[in-house]
Amino acid sequence: MFDKVEAFYRPANVREALRLLHSGKGLARVVAGGTDVVVRGDDSVRFLIDITHAGLSYIRRRGTACIIGATTTMAELEASDVIQALAGGLLSRAARYCGSALIRNMATLGGNMANGSPAADMATPLLVLDATMVMEDSKGRRELPLAEYLVAARTSRYAKALLVEVVIPDPPRGKGCQWSFQKLGRTAVDISLVNVSAGLQLDSRGRVKWARIALGSVAPAPMRAPRAEQRMAGRTLDQALLAEIGAEVAREVSPISDARASAEYRREICSVLTRRALEECSAPAGCSL
Ligand SMILES: Cc1cc2nc3c(=O)[nH]c(=O)nc-3n(C[C@H](O)[C@H](O)[C@H](O)COP(=O)(O)OP(=O)(O)OC[C@H]3O[C@@H](n4cnc5c(N)ncnc54)[C@H](O)[C@@H]3O)c2cc1C
Repeated sequence: MFDKVEAFYRPANVREALRLLHSGKGLARVVAGGTDVVVRGDDSVRFLIDITHAGLSYIRRRGTACIIGATTTMAELEASDVIQALAGGLLSRAARYCGSALIRNMATLGGNMANGSPAADMATPLLVLDATMVMEDSKGRRELPLAEYLVAARTSRYAKALLVEVVIPDPPRGKGCQWSFQKLGRTAVDISLVNVSAGLQLDSRGRVKWARIALGSVAPAPMRAPRAEQRMAGRTLDQALLAEIGAEVAREVSPISDARASAEYRREICSVLTRRALEECSAPAGCSL
């Protein structure tokens, strides 16, 4: 646990949080919902900085984007009308699958990304939505593509920066645009063995205008499947194509075996969930697969 902690701070704004983080000289740790960091513990930590009162809990529109503050909880994302309306409710659906109701009341979107877990359930919907992460440190703010952020979050490269908000550009919409989130865990409230998000637009003849596929828990960081996406463009979505794409994603991932599942099982589930996601996306267009 955190047996050596000397002080617990609750700053009222980002500037104060950053000042505390810097004065901690590497011995301070940010806490949001605490559902990852408390479970793990760390005896090298002397100062805990709770950022849940730093003004980072919000969901708002800015220009042509939806902006979500880092300490917005899964429960808030699940309940938000704005998030339910975004990309067919993709993000709110993923939030609904993040652990139990008790966890979702505490767990934040920023914590889910900053924790750097390959199994983070919110990463794959944000990847298919082309989200960017806004970081703030003593030098100011900068924006990073999510894929880049997720790789770096596995190291301590951003230890002196706060993730302040997530920017989601307005997704493609119109006839034939659909989205899907699929997850397999050992239980309904466990983290993912595999999760898949997909977005798809079919034209009036059932041909793929564009496709986006992201997979979690099957590589060092959640990832897009670019080869599978490219293979789909312009082709008619039928069972043969679904089988081909299922096989392609299985080749693109690099899962490990752990206490939850073997690498082989995860690879197989990648194919199954990807096919399921694409079938769900194609159903409203009346595609008979
Ligand atoms: C029983 C249980 C079930 C769970 N089920 C799921 C699940 O189904 N799906 C899933 O994805 N996750 C699950 N989790 C993991 C966890 O709940 C999520 O990852 C959650 O979103 C983490 O958010 P948090 O606010 O609690 O992060 P915290 O634990 O507070 O922080 C996590 C890490 O991120 C850092 N951090 C937090 N916020 C910021 C920020 N704004 N800027 C910089 N660094 C920051 C912290 O220093 C820490 O290193 C589960 C956890 C438990 C205990």
